[in-house]
Amino acid sequence: MPDRTDLLVVGAGPYAYSAAAFARDNGIETRIVGRPMAFWRNQMPADMFLRSGPDWHLDARGEHTFEAFFEDRGLRPADFDPIPVAVFLEYTDWFRDCKGLDLDERLVTGLTKPNSGFVATLDDGTTITADKVLAAPGVGSFLNLPEWYADVPPARRSHTSDLVSFDSLAGARVVIIGGRQSAYEWAALLTDHGAEHVDVVHRHSTPNFAKVSWHFVDQYVDQTLTHRGWWRGLSPERQRAIASEFWQVGRLTLEPWLVPRIPDTVVTSHPGCAVVGTAVSEHDVTLTLSNGKALTADHVVFASGYRADLARVQYLSGLVDRVSVTEGFPDLTEGLETSLAGLYLTGFAATRDFGPFYGFTKGCPSAAHIAVTDMMGGGGEEVGG
Ligand SMILES: Cc1cc2nc3c(=O)[nH]c(=O)nc-3n(C[C@H](O)[C@H](O)[C@H](O)COP(=O)(O)OP(=O)(O)OC[C@H]3O[C@@H](n4cnc5c(N)ncnc54)[C@H](O)[C@@H]3O)c2cc1C
Repeated sequence: MPDRTDLLVVGAGPYAYSAAAFARDNGIETRIVGRPMAFWRNQMPADMFLRSGPDWHLDARGEHTFEAFFEDRGLRPADFDPIPVAVFLEYTDWFRDCKGLDLDERLVTGLTKPNSGFVATLDDGTTITADKVLAAPGVGSFLNLPEWYADVPPARRSHTSDLVSFDSLAGARVVIIGGRQSAYEWAALLTDHGAEHVDVVHRHSTPNFAKVSWHFVDQYVDQTLTHRGWWRGLSPERQRAIASEFWQVGRLTLEPWLVPRIPDTVVTSHPGCAVVGTAVSEHDVTLTLSNGKALTADHVVFASGYRADLARVQYLSGLVDRVSVTEGFPDLTEGLETSLAGLYLTGFAATRDFGPFYGFTKGCPSAAHIAVTDMMGGGGEEVGG
């Protein structure tokens, strides 16, 4: 007899924790499958800092917040500014314990829907059947890379999500492609770990480094909760204006604590430049820039971000033909359900229909509330905090 559950939550990141906890709080029999916070643990550097603060949390009931964790540990959030990724991981462990979330640390290798329910196959060959599935795949399947990346030999290239330890690049010449927070934070981390030189190449102008407030996001996430379908009901102009506000704060402005860590003796920015040529030798790679400069490097880091393409989430490959998709994003109902009844998608995959905030942990409590309420046919508890 295969295992069965009412709700299977796939992925063990912030969105999955949040939704699984809120589903259980609402009496839904829930299983959660995945390696705990694996993307944060394995695909972010251990010495990275968060951009978000202690006010963003995972609990749709508003009890087991990040701030409650600090209080429980007798710590002052002000002493952790910016917040090291390790502290956030401790919070997520604490959240899991407080909520009694038993994680099944196997991976889902495939998902099918032979009848009204779903069958998930796990990496040991066993299966779990579920009435509903909530998939929280994050961004790990969606690496965005320029076409020419394949010209660089595999041993000489990384996407930022693959480059999380830097000691092997001590003394190396590195070129980073991209100019947002990850590009400059990776430049700082490479500098910290003794890279000889780091060139940062991007099409846009040099970003600002300044302290920003993310509080403007709060009102939008509140609107998402109080007005079902709020984001999709906005005019394209209003959506563009909010997205541009988000872009201004999140992408065009980078954290000021990076500045002392990217000395111009080590880090050189090349704003307004694209790579127009690559030449590979036995010992290094030379990139030609659109301004005519040539940069020779031992390693090329692609800080080129993520682009949604649902077809690239491997465990969904058996279902993706039955899911309506636009520009790589699933078309979601106002309850975060895909066009395949019973399959819910959350996090970054929901940003087209729910707004850019759903790519960040800020959206976790509201996404959990929206999806679980929908599963319960409109019932569910009030969202907190
Ligand atoms: C460098 C970087 C810095 C960031 N900094 C911040 C920040 O400061 N604040 C913030 O709010 N957000 C930040 N983000 C965004 C962050 O990624 C999202 O907020 C968050 O991870 C979204 O959670 P999630 O649960 O959707 O995805 P994830 O955390 O990516 O979780 C998805 C999970 O699915 C699991 N999974 C994959 N395949 C399978 C499978 N087959 N079976 C089972 N499980 C599977 C993965 O192991 C992973 O743990 C950052 C992102 C990056 C890349």
